[in-house]
Amino acid sequence: MFLSVKEMEVRKVRFDETFPPGEIDFSSDLVTQSGPLHAEGVAELLANTDGEVRIKGRLTVKMEAECDRCLARAQFPLDNAFDLFYRPSAALAAVDEVAIDEGEAEMGFYVGLGMELEDILREQIILSLPMQRVCSADCKGICPVCGGNRNEVPCNCRLEPVNNGLSSLGNISRG
Ligand SMILES: [Zn+2]
Ligand SMILES: [Zn+2]
Repeated sequence: MFLSVKEMEVRKVRFDETFPPGEIDFSSDLVTQSGPLHAEGVAELLANTDGEVRIKGRLTVKMEAECDRCLARAQFPLDNAFDLFYRPSAALAAVDEVAIDEGEAEMGFYVGLGMELEDILREQIILSLPMQRVCSADCKGICPVCGGNRNEVPCNCRLEPVNNGLSSLGNISRG
């Protein structure tokens, strides 16, 4: 859905959209959408600004990724409120000599006549996924010795390698 700044000049643009898995491409982020993405909210042009747009709303979606520890599918249900500000990219050119501070980092930019809701949602979803993607906080992971999934099959492997190579070599040279 295209959020048109021209339309925002006349009225607030409300959205209430559902995107089934596959409509938004997450393939470069190593995550998949496993349930419908629902987003609702309002986009408005802020008065007395040089084209600044505020997009406020809420999204719910179920995402899936490979667990960092055991490689099984890990589920990430999201339910996020967002309140975002976007300036036209022409305004960026005007301040390009100014260092962007922490507060400015919250500000996005749009090019041309508006922005795609899908791009905004995609960015919000990626930002809200945890840095460490695990299936559960107490995931035991893959055993480095036998390669088994320690959540499914407890193994008795010792984590410190037992090295018998040197002693047996010594026995041979002694003979
Ligand atoms: Zn896991
Ligand atoms: Zn093991």
